[in-house]
Amino acid sequence: MFEKEKEAILKACLKMKEYHLISLSGGNISMRIDENHYLITPSGMLYEEMNIDDIVVVDEKGNTIEGIRKPSSDIDALLYIFKNMKDVNVIIHTHQPYATAIGLINDSLPACLVTLIDAVGDRVNVAPWSKSQDIGMGKLVVEYAGKAKAVILKHHGVVTYGKDLEEALYAAIYLEEGAKTYCIAKMMGEIPELSEEEIKEEAGGWANYGQ
Ligand SMILES: [Zn+2]
Repeated sequence: MFEKEKEAILKACLKMKEYHLISLSGGNISMRIDENHYLITPSGMLYEEMNIDDIVVVDEKGNTIEGIRKPSSDIDALLYIFKNMKDVNVIIHTHQPYATAIGLINDSLPACLVTLIDAVGDRVNVAPWSKSQDIGMGKLVVEYAGKAKAVILKHHGVVTYGKDLEEALYAAIYLEEGAKTYCIAKMMGEIPELSEEEIKEEAGGWANYGQ
């Protein structure tokens, strides 16, 4: 069931590792197939040892439809996000260190770099602390999403999302790159902000990018 989609998720998991967005078995990737079928990475398994049979198919209530593994312990939060953000088909949760570090200090990461604006869309809000593995994490993501494709969870990590796997993955990777640049610049001085007009002008800048 959904082999092609599971393969794509596995590839994205390895990208998360390659770009240092997670350690060991942290984080997760989930995908909406339709209103009754969701793919979720398993709980507590090393990504490099995972194969497509380890990815669990669940229904909208979290009941397993296919798979022998226990799905990610964030399942309630993930299904809450899918239910309340109808344009979102893929959610990526990471503990990426630079963006998470900014969440400990700031209320948001400003949209101060073109790649951040292109991939994430807008300033990224920091949601207050909530217990991990709890639906509260999903409620905060919906509440703090704004126009961005990411929310930073204070004392925890990051959730990115998009209409497809590429959109959610690019948001996570470019968010981390932007957050790293922001942290370096912050050590050297004050960071100038872009105006609303400039952010608007840059948004959609990827329309002519790529093959
Ligand atoms: Zn987490």
